[in-house]
Amino acid sequence: MAERVLDANTFPAALAEVVVGWPLYRRFKFVGDVSVVTIGSGRGKTPCVTLPEEAARYCERCKTVQRWRLVKPRTNFGYAQIPIIEEEEDEEIRALRFDCKNCESVLMVFLKIDINPGRVSEVVKVGQYPALELEPSPILASAMTKENLILYRHALTCRNSNFGIAAVAYLRRIIEDRLNYVLDLIATAPENEADPEALKRLSEVKMDKRFSEKIDYAARILPTRLRLGGHNPIATLHDLASEALHAKSDEDCVEIFDSCKLAVEYVVKRLKEDHDEDAAYQNAMKVLAAKKTGRKT
Ligand SMILES: [Zn+2]
Repeated sequence: MAERVLDANTFPAALAEVVVGWPLYRRFKFVGDVSVVTIGSGRGKTPCVTLPEEAARYCERCKTVQRWRLVKPRTNFGYAQIPIIEEEEDEEIRALRFDCKNCESVLMVFLKIDINPGRVSEVVKVGQYPALELEPSPILASAMTKENLILYRHALTCRNSNFGIAAVAYLRRIIEDRLNYVLDLIATAPENEADPEALKRLSEVKMDKRFSEKIDYAARILPTRLRLGGHNPIATLHDLASEALHAKSDEDCVEIFDSCKLAVEYVVKRLKEDHDEDAAYQNAMKVLAAKKTGRKT
């Protein structure tokens, strides 16, 4: 994987990604000078790096994504900055504390930070409390069987330990199992305007055993409103086809896992919300109609 190029402006947001979502022990490597020079109190100019002031992350207590504010470390003047350590002592581990801005829950993250302006720098998350999530979002969970849920926890356990190859294998198993369900959801989307001709082949494709055939088909009938800027999230799932995975490293597979997980979450969430809303609407209409006939008789 090519190293990212960062500067002092782009570093905090990149670090926030590592803080929030990266597995433990995955090495975040980058090049570029990310240092800023601040006026220290009596010690003259100290090169520092700026930490993210805030990060967006799911809050277990609020049950939704919240903004989290960096509480520690802060400089004497209150800036979210830490000094760059000299090369001889570059093994330093820093504890970062973020508080949920809504409920004040605490997130602690431990980072091994090794900044080398002019060479490759590296940040590794070596600890986190509370642990990275192992549960799917409620709407995704409602689209899974009990067996799927067990496999999903295994998938996230592997992903969060940077075992991307295993995580992808679990995810593929779950998606293979739920593809027919997703196909039905897509086919019954309120305005499936994507390809009416293709819809006629639904039952035939559902019988098909080939993973990539089903993905192709699902991508084809996905309503255009679920395609973001022309990008088809279902097509992302092609990366789970085994041929594409053979030569990939654990790190690459974590990236594939994350993008496929996002795609599935997005599609299932949007389709299920519409589907459930329609069902609720139809039920409400039924109740109203029953009341009406009740009044007449
Ligand atoms: Zn909260």
